[in-house]
Amino acid sequence: MSQKKRTKIKDILQLAEANVTVTVKGWVRTKRENKNVVFINLNDGSTINNLQIVGDPTKFDEATLKKITTGASLSVVGLLVASQGSGQKFELQAETIDVLGVADPEKFPLQPKKHSLEFLREIAHLRPRTNTFSAILRVRHSMIFAVHKFFHEKGFFNIHTPIITASDAEGAGEMFRVTTLDLDKLPKTEDGKVDFKEDFFEREANLTVSGQLEGELTALALSEIYTFGPTFRAENSNTTRHLAEFWMIEPEMAFYDLEDNMDLAEEMLKYLVTYALENCQEDLAFLEQRAKDEESTKKQEERSELSLLERLRFVADNEFVRLTYTEAIDILRNSNYNKKKKFQYLIDAWGADLQSEHERYLVEKHFKKPVILIDYPKEIKSFYMKQNDDGKTVAAMDILFPGIGEIVGGSQREENYDKLTNRMKELDMDAESMWWFLDTRRFGTVPHSGFGLGFERLMLFVTGMSNIRDVIPFPRTPGNAEF
Ligand code: ATP
Ligand code: MN
Repeated sequence: MSQKKRTKIKDILQLAEANVTVTVKGWVRTKRENKNVVFINLNDGSTINNLQIVGDPTKFDEATLKKITTGASLSVVGLLVASQGSGQKFELQAETIDVLGVADPEKFPLQPKKHSLEFLREIAHLRPRTNTFSAILRVRHSMIFAVHKFFHEKGFFNIHTPIITASDAEGAGEMFRVTTLDLDKLPKTEDGKVDFKEDFFEREANLTVSGQLEGELTALALSEIYTFGPTFRAENSNTTRHLAEFWMIEPEMAFYDLEDNMDLAEEMLKYLVTYALENCQEDLAFLEQRAKDEESTKKQEERSELSLLERLRFVADNEFVRLTYTEAIDILRNSNYNKKKKFQYLIDAWGADLQSEHERYLVEKHFKKPVILIDYPKEIKSFYMKQNDDGKTVAAMDILFPGIGEIVGGSQREENYDKLTNRMKELDMDAESMWWFLDTRRFGTVPHSGFGLGFERLMLFVTGMSNIRDVIPFPRTPGNAEF
């Protein structure tokens, strides 16, 4: 190893032997010193582990030593030796220390004490320098990589679908508008409405809520595709599971029916969880302990029965329960929670939309396993879902996870042109503007299916964090777009 070139702490800690001179660069986590020795814990983000640096204070000038405080950045050259202390294999005997950047201890907000997650959200620009957030960001990277690996190995093609669209895939109308019109001087049509013909795209445009519709177009050519892109929803729901900007994985497959779709989703979720267990061990061990500490502050009945790693193994090793919406409604209606009015929204009739409390009851209390619910009432699902023969339900599938509720939403798609356009008419949708989508049903239509996995919901599950704002680097929620 050359002396000038930086060696990552991760690579140093994996060396078989000490007695090499290395250069490390990173940020000071803690410093302790007495007359004879100074100890510095340095972290460079390559691993959760710090490298302990030991120095003889008489070898360094006082001004340099003073600048070494929590948060300062250093470049250190030294000899790597077997560590005297417990807890680490190696330590670095500093020969030279350069302070690259100071961090005034009076002003630097991250000090070596436990900061609340709420406080860290207010300093989202600095929170990657904590153990918790650097662990989350490394796991997040591994999960992104595993998503691509999974689909690539199965022969799926990654498609970039547009971020700016003129259609509302979900029909929920919770979209962010994209415009270059001058908001102070809006051009108007004769009947007084905003004239979008004058706008950049010469029509109304928005940020996409889903890449599905364009995904379907390409699946009807390449057979098996997936998208993994940002999606935007202007839903004013201030929950721990909703972001205004989140990332979604959306596979879309020709020749798949609902069962093929469920099989793929279950296989994918198990693959991703297994990948994390095998490749993120140190970070997950840290996050498991963090979650335990957090749980210990909760009431007994709010604690989860399994630890983080146990939950991950449980999902990887067990078959998901599959049942229909109708069966689920019966279970919920007859449940103690319903009878004793413990649900905020009581279940009385078939057709009710399931709230997260119902989803979690099924998963956590009743089955104690991930659940795939299928065949929902058509009224509570999107227009494009395949209509079942009963005339009442559609071939939808939602996957429900412990602690989260819905993690995946998908369906077999309606491939029949007449049925699809009739449903659009019932819903008062403008079929004309979606001529390109309907063309897939006019030319070489095939049975096909797909689903959407909210990447941050997966991250919540894998990291054991409880607020979705903490599993994305810079969260976007109502009133929050600072960083
Ligand atoms: P929910 O009922 O939880 O709001 P949804 O029915 O609106 O979800 P879909 O439109 O089916 O969700 O989107 C597919 C997936 O995207 C969901 O299963 C979920 O994992 C994720 N998701 C949806 N909305 C959000 C959001 N606002 N923030 C983060 N992830 C989301
Ligand atoms: Mn929603």
